Amino acid sequence: MCFDKISEWIDSHSALAVDLERKLTATKALAPESDGDGEMEKCLLLEDWLRSHKITDLVRFDAPDDRVSCGKRPNLVATIKGKSSKALWIMSHLDIVPEGDLSLWKTPPFEVHVEGDKIIGRGVEDNQQGVVSSSMMAAAFAELGIQPELTIKLLFVADEEVGSIYGIQYLLETQTLFSKDDLIVIPDGGAENGADIEVAEKHMLWLEFRTVGKQAHGSRPDEGCNAHLANCFLALEINGLEQVFTQRNPIFAPDYSTFQPTKKNANVPNINTIPGDDVFCVDCRILPCYTLDEVRSEIQKCVKKTEEKYGVAITVEEKQSVQSPATPNDAPVVSVLCDAIKSVYGVDGKIIGIGGGTVASYLRNAGFHAVVWSRMFETAHQPNEYCLLSNILGDAKVFSKMVL
Ligand SMILES: [Zn+2]
Repeated sequence: MCFDKISEWIDSHSALAVDLERKLTATKALAPESDGDGEMEKCLLLEDWLRSHKITDLVRFDAPDDRVSCGKRPNLVATIKGKSSKALWIMSHLDIVPEGDLSLWKTPPFEVHVEGDKIIGRGVEDNQQGVVSSSMMAAAFAELGIQPELTIKLLFVADEEVGSIYGIQYLLETQTLFSKDDLIVIPDGGAENGADIEVAEKHMLWLEFRTVGKQAHGSRPDEGCNAHLANCFLALEINGLEQVFTQRNPIFAPDYSTFQPTKKNANVPNINTIPGDDVFCVDCRILPCYTLDEVRSEIQKCVKKTEEKYGVAITVEEKQSVQSPATPNDAPVVSVLCDAIKSVYGVDGKIIGIGGGTVASYLRNAGFHAVVWSRMFETAHQPNEYCLLSNILGDAKVFSKMVL
């Protein structure tokens, strides 16, 4: 009964969603790293919109940042109290990435262009689809005066595109917003049919190996110590760890841990010199059933073996390391979301893992069971970025279903 009313409200106010997309897109929210002035103007616009739709419990948690004119990066929480204090959090981000090469855009990136069901413009999908769908859902409850079972918490964060230091990381360090049994959805990724629910990321470990041997003439390897040759051996040894870390998990593609040599620095400029110095990098993507420390210790063994075999000295530098636990497949957020997706979109939820690198890892590391979900095309960061109005409205209904 309540859901039908809410669903009807959302459908009959579709023009409101397009209008909000238009306003948000026109208010560029770029990080200072992208020569922007942050998210404050966009946040204030959104606050006004929410207030005008009877969502009045708004609290800001601003992170100080001298690089923007107002000195603050805004993080906004909008609350609609439910019968239970247990909350559904929908976390989306206010910042966008720059338009990129303007010549690739068919319409001006910061003026929303509507083509049938398609809404085109920078940021309309990443992440305004989430901003607008969650705002529409909250507006439906507030305007109709329906109290949800669960408390609705919309979280709009700053600084997602550049590193989240002034966004979710700041919130996790300075506030205690979340409870362990809250449901957390991040509508910032997903499949075109709305099935994919991302619950896990592979751990990421990026390493650089600097190997020192002894330079010599190309004809006298006996007088030198070939650092490049040693690194070739080391690269194969590290790649061979794919046969050591053999666990498989079908939610990931590929379903195993990978150890891939990637970047290779230039060494000597000519063919007839034995290089005494050589640098290459490895990108490791590890299933969450392992720890990065287990990986580090196996890599150290490869390094030792190479040093002994080739008489070189190797230093290892970690360029990046991210480790986060998976949200369990049977976490309540997964089943509640699956039911809602099934009833709104008629598809069965599919649990997936990805190669690594979303904000969900910060929440998972803090002990919260977050999932990444939306029905979208993943046109983020591309020219002619778009989203479908029908997906904004559909996602709003999915979120509504979750709190009823
Ligand atoms: Zn995003």
